[in-house]
Amino acid sequence: MTDAPRLVLFNSLTRQLEPFEPVHTGEARVYTCGPTVYNYPHIGNMRAYIFADVLGRVLTHQGYALTHVINITDVGHLTDDADTGEDKMERIARAQAQSIWEIADHYTQAYWADISALNIRQPAQWSVATKYVPQMIEFAQKIADRHCYELDSGLYFDVSTVSDYGRLARAVTDEGEGRIEAVAGKRNAADFAIWRKTPPGETRQMEWDSPWGRGAPGWHLECSVMSGDLLGFPFDIHTGGIDHREIHHPNEIAQNQAFCCTNGLDTPANSGAKVWMHNNFLVERSGKMSKSSGEFLRLQLLIDKGFHPLAYRMMCLQAHYRSELEFSWEGLAAALVRLKRMIIVTERLADTPPGEGVHPKLAPMLETFETAIAEDLNTAVALTALEDVLAAKKVDAGAKRAVIGRMDAVLGLDLFGTRRVDLRMRPKSVLLEEAEIEDILQRRKQARADKDFATSDALREQLAAQGVEVMDGDPLGWEWKPG
Ligand code: AMP
Ligand code: ZN
Repeated sequence: MTDAPRLVLFNSLTRQLEPFEPVHTGEARVYTCGPTVYNYPHIGNMRAYIFADVLGRVLTHQGYALTHVINITDVGHLTDDADTGEDKMERIARAQAQSIWEIADHYTQAYWADISALNIRQPAQWSVATKYVPQMIEFAQKIADRHCYELDSGLYFDVSTVSDYGRLARAVTDEGEGRIEAVAGKRNAADFAIWRKTPPGETRQMEWDSPWGRGAPGWHLECSVMSGDLLGFPFDIHTGGIDHREIHHPNEIAQNQAFCCTNGLDTPANSGAKVWMHNNFLVERSGKMSKSSGEFLRLQLLIDKGFHPLAYRMMCLQAHYRSELEFSWEGLAAALVRLKRMIIVTERLADTPPGEGVHPKLAPMLETFETAIAEDLNTAVALTALEDVLAAKKVDAGAKRAVIGRMDAVLGLDLFGTRRVDLRMRPKSVLLEEAEIEDILQRRKQARADKDFATSDALREQLAAQGVEVMDGDPLGWEWKPG
C-alpha cells in the first residue's frame, strides 16, 4: 500500500507464509476469538490478544483501514469439546449463586481492564454472543437442510457434507481431542452441535426458542455468524490461540463453507476468512495457568508482585508469536528492566515535539524495523531496532522522538505515556507505603553521608524486614526492589 515492505503472514490453512492481499482494496478486516467470560483471563489468554493487537497495529501502520472485531462468549462454550459437557457459564453461575448476566458482566469488565492495562487498542467492535442469537438461528436454518441432522439432544452438523473437513487441523479428525465422549447417534465422531436442546424437565438460565426446540446455540456457531455479519464473507484474517486450530476453527470453517455454498458462493477454499492465524501458547511448568487452579496467573497477580503490566507485553513481544513462550518470574523481571531502560530515554524526549522526516542516521534502523514487522510480525527483531534508535548518538531529540513514536505505534509499549516512577509498583508483599520507603531511604542517605554506618545498616535491615531490598548503585537508578 504505502512504501512499506510487503506484508507477509503465516496462514495456518496452507501452513505457509503468504503475501497479504486484502479482499477489499485498502482495507483489512480481522476477527479475533475472544474470551469466554466465566472466569478471569490468565496471562496466556492475554498473549492471544497482544498478538491480535500487534497484527492490527501493523496493518494500520501499513496504511490499511482496519476493522477489528473481538467477540465475547457468554453462551454456548461447554466444559468439554464433545458436546456432552455443561455450559461453562451455567455451571459457574450455579456455583456462585449469581445470574449468568452478573457473571458475564463481572468477567467482561475484568477482561477489559486487562486489555487496557496491556495497552491493547479497542477493536472497532466487541460482539457479544447472546446479542446474536436470532442471527445464529437464521444462519442455522439456512444450512440445516443440507448439512445438519436432528437428535434428541439437538441439531448437529454433519462434517461429511463439506469438502475437506478439518484441513486446518491436519489431523485425522476421528482421533481429535475431545472426540472421545461422542454423543450417541452422531453420524461422524467429529460432528458437532449447532443447537443444544434443553433436556426435558430442565430449565437453563439462558435458553431461546428455535425451530429445533428451546435451547441454546453451540459454541462454534457464534463466531461464524458474528464474523460473517460484521465483516462479510470472505474477510481477511481470523485469529485465535493455537488450540483453536484443532476443533473450534475447523468447525467454524465447515459452517462457513456450508453457509456460503447455500448462498451459491461455494468454492472448496471458501473458508470465511482468507487467512487463519494462530498464536502459540504461553506455558508455565507448575500448572498455574489453568483457570481451575486456585491462584492462577492473572495479570493482577503480576501487578500484586510489583510488575507493571507492560513488562508482560514486553515479554510477549520478545518472542515470535508462533513460538511457545515459557513464563518465568526471572524472564518477567528481565523484560521489566528492558522496558525501564527504554523509558529512561523516552522520558527525556517526552516534551520534545517530533521532528519532520527521518534522520539519515536513523533511516537504516527504521528500515530494519519495517522489514522485521512485515515478515510475519517479527517483533523480537523490531525491538532491537528500536533500541538502536534509543541509543543513537548525535541525533537531535525531535528526530529521535519521531522515529521512536512510529515504532511504538506498532509495538504499543506506550513509551511516551509511561514514566519511570510508574514502572515501580509497590508489591502487595511490601508492607510500607511508598512515602515511608522514601523517607527511610532519605534518612539512610543522610546517615551514609554522615558516615554513620551503624544507622545506615539498621535502616537497611528495617526495610528488609518489611519486604524492601535496597539497591545501592543500581545502574538504572532504581533505589529499591521487593525483597
Ligand atoms: P478462552 O477464553 O479459553 O476461549 O481463550 C481465549 C484465547 O486465549 C483463545 O484464543 C485461546 O486460544 C487463547 N489461549 C488459551 N490458553 C493460552 C495460552 N496458554 N497461551 C496463549 N494463548 C492461549
Ligand atoms: Zn471463535
